[in-house]
Amino acid sequence: MRQHIYADNAATTKLDKEAFEAMIPWLTEEYGNPSQPYFFAKKPKMAVRNARETIAECIGAEPEQIFFTSGGTESDNWAIKCFGSSTDVKVIVTSSIEHHAILKACESQKNVHQIIYLPVDRYGIVSPNDVDNALNFDGKPVCSCMTLLTSIMLANNEIGTIQPIKALADAAHKRGSLFHTDAVQAIGHIPVNVKELGIDMLSASAHKFNGPKGIGFFYDSGKHVHPHNDGGSQEYGQRAGTENVAGIVGMAVALKNNCAQIVENQRHIRVLEDRFMNLMHQSGLEFIRNGSENHLPGLISLSFKNQDGEKLLHRLDLMGISVSTGAACDTKNTAISHVLKAIKIDDDYAEGTIRVSLGKTNSLDDCEKIVTSLKRIILE
Ligand code: PLP
Repeated sequence: MRQHIYADNAATTKLDKEAFEAMIPWLTEEYGNPSQPYFFAKKPKMAVRNARETIAECIGAEPEQIFFTSGGTESDNWAIKCFGSSTDVKVIVTSSIEHHAILKACESQKNVHQIIYLPVDRYGIVSPNDVDNALNFDGKPVCSCMTLLTSIMLANNEIGTIQPIKALADAAHKRGSLFHTDAVQAIGHIPVNVKELGIDMLSASAHKFNGPKGIGFFYDSGKHVHPHNDGGSQEYGQRAGTENVAGIVGMAVALKNNCAQIVENQRHIRVLEDRFMNLMHQSGLEFIRNGSENHLPGLISLSFKNQDGEKLLHRLDLMGISVSTGAACDTKNTAISHVLKAIKIDDDYAEGTIRVSLGKTNSLDDCEKIVTSLKRIILE
């Protein structure tokens, strides 16, 4: 069988073996509904409680601040659609490089007074000064019926840029705004402590940190959002619906393992990244690397002059290599992405963009094979 190289870890990651094993009992013998009062429900109830504690500990939160959701998209939608009360004058400040889960949720809001999309610099960084200015309202004081929400992602999924989150959260708070961050790409890969960073709300998704798909969590430091599902009283009445016990348990194990190995994984991935970039610089290929110096380990966005990213992806695929053109959740959209537009790279480079995202399961050999394949496709 042809060897397959998976280099699209920002799209999804391989399920942690221990997480998978921890899920099995809740899919087989221990199938009780955790909301029921009888003995058979006790074990799943405890499993959900333990998982909540584990996850809270991993991000420096309290267990009652963690709400299980179906993933990053749901958590992002929850933050944007459910903050403030129906009579509040709502204003959202966000960035032009957010994931579509944030941008489209913003666009769909009919009862939001104003949505401000902040620009980024050429590295994809949002300036805390821009947050401050956006929330200044010409110096007029914010009235009590006004709820402000600032939502800026912790790390970008296309170019890997890590934002100065503490400074952005401080700027938002100074002007009386809540601060939400989409941390889907960051959690489990770089240390995240919600209290130290001053985050009020956060979105995360298990399949990005070697957990199962279809499960994630939302952190809310103090009931800043109202429930988005009507129904049962699960999740402290904030998110109705029978809990995905196996998913929740698998997510907690995966997060705990990833957080315990963060330094080791980062070291390994940085070695791969350095090797990959050294080979790229020696390759004779004409390219630029997008994103900032402070980026997610292993996330490498490359733009090749006068190339077509889609074609590169398919040629690499034929050679047994999986990479992406940008946002994995948006493969049908072949136009230049909103992120590449926001960082203003030249069109003759933008169209030739691919994202290689190396993870803990990749090797030096993978890096060599990817660069060799790119050379064959572009130079031969
Ligand atoms: N936010 C970011 C930054 C992402 O990268 C993704 C998925 O790629 C999402 C949100 C959506 O997460 P999910 O796939 O769990 O719905």
